[in-house]
Amino acid sequence: MIRAISREQVQDLRLYSDPECGILREKIAKQFGFEKANIFVSNGSDDILNFAFMAFCDTDRCGVAFPEISYGFYQVYADLHGVNAKRIPLGSNFEVCAKDYVHIGRTVVIANPNAPTGIALSKAEIERIVASNPDHVVLIDEAYVDFGAESCIDLVRQYENLLVVRTFSKSYSLAGARLGFAIGSRALIEDLEKIKYSTNPYNINRLTLLAGSAAMDENDFYMQNCRIIEENRAYLTDALTALGFQVLPSKANFVFAQSPEIDGEALYRELKARGILIRHFKTESIRNFNRITIGTMEEMQALVAAVKAILNDAKKQKETEL
Ligand SMILES: *Cc1c(COP(=O)(O)O)cnc(C)c1O
Repeated sequence: MIRAISREQVQDLRLYSDPECGILREKIAKQFGFEKANIFVSNGSDDILNFAFMAFCDTDRCGVAFPEISYGFYQVYADLHGVNAKRIPLGSNFEVCAKDYVHIGRTVVIANPNAPTGIALSKAEIERIVASNPDHVVLIDEAYVDFGAESCIDLVRQYENLLVVRTFSKSYSLAGARLGFAIGSRALIEDLEKIKYSTNPYNINRLTLLAGSAAMDENDFYMQNCRIIEENRAYLTDALTALGFQVLPSKANFVFAQSPEIDGEALYRELKARGILIRHFKTESIRNFNRITIGTMEEMQALVAAVKAILNDAKKQKETEL
């Protein structure tokens, strides 16, 4: 990775980047067994989502559907482009219910695994949604799929209405490089290209193109890293469960957990005071939960120790109050 960005490459920054992103798209295509024409790359997957809302959500008629609890940008893009958005509640175990999207007759956007719950749908469930909405694009945002979920990329070969969106920000540790890609039928990719060429043809800079190509060359290294994250996730899940937490079954690089002993926001504040940042959401249905990102084993152990101390303090506090 570091070697890919040489002094010569920095000097070449005087030149525009390749608007076709040919080398990178070829590498991604080869990695996943597709043609270059099935690959779209852009400046982060947020950029692709924005383009997809522009291209595939019918403003005056059908609109879009996505889970009520999911990645926050879906609603932002729907509002930005004036798209009618149907927000579908999660099931009783905080899962996305595939049946709610079958024959829905709208563009569908689902993060799989979902955020911030970490819960994943199977490829078979995704296929039911895609197959039952042949006249609408189904966009599956696989930002976290490399951490143990089942990808639906294979289904792109069978279904022209499926667009799978991926990012280099999570499993390839390149969030600051801003690079995302989508895999879909030629027709869908052509539509995205049209928007890109109509807004900013050089939207991926030369250094990021190099970083993305190097990451594809070293794919095994990054996938190995994901396996370590999965091990640390299992450790954290067990440790929090032993402390009485409910931990949702995560296939992402975070867990979503709540404790019957302490309010979600209080836990967030107490950990912050100890120098540990987790994510709390104020949304009513998930306000007792926190999203905890998986880090190194040392970081997970430090977190568990801090949570133990906080729960003990809370218990003592309760006893003195009695
Ligand atoms: C992080 C994330 C993105 C955005 O990724 P970028 O490529 O950094 O823009 C999109 N969708 C989901 C669900 C994410 O978690």
